[in-house]
Amino acid sequence: MKDRKNYIGGKFLPAVNGGLLDVVAPATEKVYARIPDSDDQDIALAVKAAEEAFPSWSGLSAEQRADHLRKVADSIESCLDELAELESIDTGKPVSLAKRVDIPRASANFRFFASAAEQFSSEAHIGSAMLNYTHRHPLGVVGCISPWNLPLYLLTWKIAPALAAGNTVVAKPSEVTPLTAARLGEICRDAGLPDGVLNIVHGRGTKAGQALVTNATVKAISFTGGTATGRAIATLAAPMFKKLSLELGGKNPSLVFADANFDEAVETSVRAAFTNQGEICLCGSRIFVQGDIYDEFKKAFVNKVKVLKVGNPSEKDTDIGALVSEEHRQKVMNYVDLAINEGGRILTGGKVPDQLARGYFYEPTVIEGLDAFCRTNTEEIFGPVVTIQPFFDEDEAVRYANTTEYGLSATVWTRDLDRAHRVSSRIKSGIVWINCWMMRDLRTPFGGVKNSGVGREGGWEAMRFFTEPQNVCIKRN
Ligand code: NAD
Repeated sequence: MKDRKNYIGGKFLPAVNGGLLDVVAPATEKVYARIPDSDDQDIALAVKAAEEAFPSWSGLSAEQRADHLRKVADSIESCLDELAELESIDTGKPVSLAKRVDIPRASANFRFFASAAEQFSSEAHIGSAMLNYTHRHPLGVVGCISPWNLPLYLLTWKIAPALAAGNTVVAKPSEVTPLTAARLGEICRDAGLPDGVLNIVHGRGTKAGQALVTNATVKAISFTGGTATGRAIATLAAPMFKKLSLELGGKNPSLVFADANFDEAVETSVRAAFTNQGEICLCGSRIFVQGDIYDEFKKAFVNKVKVLKVGNPSEKDTDIGALVSEEHRQKVMNYVDLAINEGGRILTGGKVPDQLARGYFYEPTVIEGLDAFCRTNTEEIFGPVVTIQPFFDEDEAVRYANTTEYGLSATVWTRDLDRAHRVSSRIKSGIVWINCWMMRDLRTPFGGVKNSGVGREGGWEAMRFFTEPQNVCIKRN
């Protein structure tokens, strides 16, 4: 078992306090790695390294920074198999999914923001009395904190734009799934990224994470994780006047109208509900189907869920791997109990698979018979559990879609273009997919409304977040 280290100023270092945390493989329940249990001392070292690296990194031309980012992207690509395997061991997700989605997206993040660095520009406001232009400066040292569900994908989604914009970074990956982040440190060093430009500090949120949030030198925090954690971070960071980007929880509806392409709606709704064991903030976990096709849809949907293969994440044909931890599986099971208490009927799933005694597996579960306003239908479960219920008309569908405190994404299934526009504009969420799910163009603004977050990532939004605009005004004669 290899102990992982922090990556600070180009060196691999243990925690100053010498502490270590066990990391458990969810599919086997075995401790397979240890990471530094870092605290404010390690964060201080990392921030100092980042501060020292800032003048030369921010002084590079955009093209030089882009070159560095492309080299990192190339290296990630060349380590595809290894990184996918690490991601699968860490999270319990199928290795095939990590190979198809997580790791390619991590390299795409670097490649995309390399181009963004080269193409980023600002405005000029030209008047008869004066000329104004906007100079966008990098912020300095910024903090990136990421969750366990898409570890490398989401960490690089923050690091890449921060570096592209000329900042130096201290990153705190999830302590539950640290392996690919630890490998990223080695990849960046080998790809020639200058020392101190990216620093990776492992450890617990309440210790290392909080120390990063409260470090006075850190100018901005880009955070993805749970809504309660986001609130805690905002409480600490707001009085320090830090810039904050918070990508938080979701409880996303899928609305299926009777005129939808039936087969595609069924197929994609299954994917939307159960990809990554339902552990994606964008998963469609509440399905509302127009009454006319409800029974037919329910039958087709449940039939497809029943044939999903739950099991060993290393096997090619596995659809659903293990949940990330025992604690998380218990949370999911508690929600299924709650659903039953709230009057729900389990159509399939609802238990630990009989054949999988070891590992935190759980069957994909479909529940009907709940009203749209109950706790099961309004609180985030973040697991392989979906509810299905009928609606009568458009108004009712929109009302149901908007019942939760979350507002990250929604999917609408209809062939009626007018309805697609009308309904999407009435749904309170940051993203609406029409006749699809999780199609991503990295240029688009990504983020949620209500308790799903503050701010947007993606494209220019991220480049703007990681820069400070300065207005320069020149008097004209
Ligand atoms: P979490 O909030 O428990 O942890 C996320 C990160 O924050 C981890 O690195 C953790 O160590 C750190 N952290 C925890 N407490 C902290 C504190 N007080 N100060 C600083 N850092 C702290 O979330 P999780 O359980 O890892 O991830 C699941 C959650 O993430 C779900 O709610 C999911 O919806 C959300 N999520 C949102 C998005 C999005 O883009 N909106 C994407 C993925 C996941």
